[in-house]
Amino acid sequence: MPTKPIDRLLFAQGGLCFFCQRLLPAADASVEHLVAITNGGTNGDENCVACCKALNSLLGRMSLKEKLRVILNQNGKFKCPNVGGPGKVVGKTPSHQTAGERLSLVVADLRKRGAARPRTLKTLTSTISALFQKTLPDQEVASLISKLQAQGIISINSAKVSYELPPGA
Ligand SMILES: [Zn+2]
Repeated sequence: MPTKPIDRLLFAQGGLCFFCQRLLPAADASVEHLVAITNGGTNGDENCVACCKALNSLLGRMSLKEKLRVILNQNGKFKCPNVGGPGKVVGKTPSHQTAGERLSLVVADLRKRGAARPRTLKTLTSTISALFQKTLPDQEVASLISKLQAQGIISINSAKVSYELPPGA
């Protein structure tokens, strides 16, 4: 059993941030006192959670009531305000995703980019690679691009890419 409070809390939370439930490396984690020490809270595990550092600094000395408001305001889609923090693709690592899941992530990402979509094959390749934190082998990236082509979502003409994204949510 881990003995440091942060390690113990992370262990109890399955390695996930208490609030956003993203995978949280110990280096990015901090201990949040639900009731701040200054408000009479204790250091015990019953008053502490491990969460993203960014959120901990935001919650700072808010009262428990204010914190609850912040959390409820997220309507169940809680995301810690990490700036370029760990992992956009959360829950599953790319190697655990199916090809279909990866393809829909790419389509969703391209849709989100609007007019700022990559215009060349080279930038599209690096955009897709970055989307999976550069963990995808080159041939996987290439296979995603050929699937996009096969489905008529993109067309490539002398290394220039144009888009025909399907309508969707
Ligand atoms: Zn978090």
